[in-house]
Amino acid sequence: MTKPKANLTDSFGRSITYLRLSITDRCNLRCFYCMPQADFNWMEPTEILRFEEIVQLTRVLASLGVKKVRFTGGEPLVRRDVVKLVRDVSSLPGVEETCLTTNGVLLKKMAQELFDAGLRHLNISLDTLRPERFKEVTGRDHFQDVWEGIEKGLDLGFSPVKLNFVMMRGKNDDEIVDFARLTRQYPMDVRFIEFMPIGKHSKWGRNYFFSSDEAVKQITAELGPLNPVKPEAGSGPAELYTLSDGMGRIGFISPLSHRFCSKCNRLRVTADGRLRLCLFSDLEINIRDMLRQGVTDTELAQFFSDIILKKPGRYLSHKKEVPTCERQMSSIGG
Ligand code: SAM
Ligand code: SF4
Ligand code: SF4
Repeated sequence: MTKPKANLTDSFGRSITYLRLSITDRCNLRCFYCMPQADFNWMEPTEILRFEEIVQLTRVLASLGVKKVRFTGGEPLVRRDVVKLVRDVSSLPGVEETCLTTNGVLLKKMAQELFDAGLRHLNISLDTLRPERFKEVTGRDHFQDVWEGIEKGLDLGFSPVKLNFVMMRGKNDDEIVDFARLTRQYPMDVRFIEFMPIGKHSKWGRNYFFSSDEAVKQITAELGPLNPVKPEAGSGPAELYTLSDGMGRIGFISPLSHRFCSKCNRLRVTADGRLRLCLFSDLEINIRDMLRQGVTDTELAQFFSDIILKKPGRYLSHKKEVPTCERQMSSIGG
């Protein structure tokens, strides 16, 4: 066994500094590409990690160098007492940033208490600016709530505020320029994400796939050149640009057409306490049982230091076939 190090480094020399926690598989939307529309086997409440279990695993990972923690879901804001969890995790030694990925439906109501609990980074998923289309894509009529949530987040001073837009040919590719234009008016990042083949019920298909390169072409043709932003240390997978008259930035996340595995710094934990070393690998390690059997912090640190060596170097290759993973995106959290 290797001795736990203060820095969690995998066998490819990548430092692991970022933890993505899915804290529920439930959601108040039914995005057609993420959730199966029927026959969904929700996790039993007893299967979901309890707050003290999440805090223990995060405390140990923070002692090994994890600095950034993201809450995701399902929809994280439907988890009862989520504000308490955000406060507890934000105050752990070593945790420098807590972030939330949300569909924004409950944000207007909860933004202030989340801010007070220490949250500063907001990613809001929004695939259309058209209320009717929003209903079609998400199965619910909540566009206005989401938009007001975004405005509230900006007003309160969350920074950065990022909008995540999943590009889908024939569904919303005609709104790419409208979303890019938002960065002229608002100090936020608008990030275009390539649709990924995730989940055994996934609606992913080559026909829906719309590449970042095509989006760049559309945007530059309409709005002028995109000026590259120099990546900051530890910055995520988005390639960032600004319009010449932009207040915010435009990002492209291109898991299928550009690889970012060599910079991967992340671990994922599902709502039922399975550690995933790579989004596209179905290798899952049950840490819930360890937590419930009373593992000590020292033992857990040793376990993470050992298991990290199994993190794949990369998952997407130049192979023709497209990787996928069995689990639904709604229980991994993106
Ligand atoms: N409910 C929250 C939300 O929608 O932001 C958090 C969980 S959701 C699974 C996280 C992100 O994954 C969302 O931005 C969603 O659009 C994205 N997503 C889901 N399925 C996807 C897919 N197949 N390809 C790319 N992004 C996907
Ligand atoms: Fe819910 Fe987010 Fe999945 Fe949409 S993308 S169904 S909001 S978990
Ligand atoms: Fe990291 Fe796996 Fe995503 Fe590559 S595919 S960036 S290794 S999580």
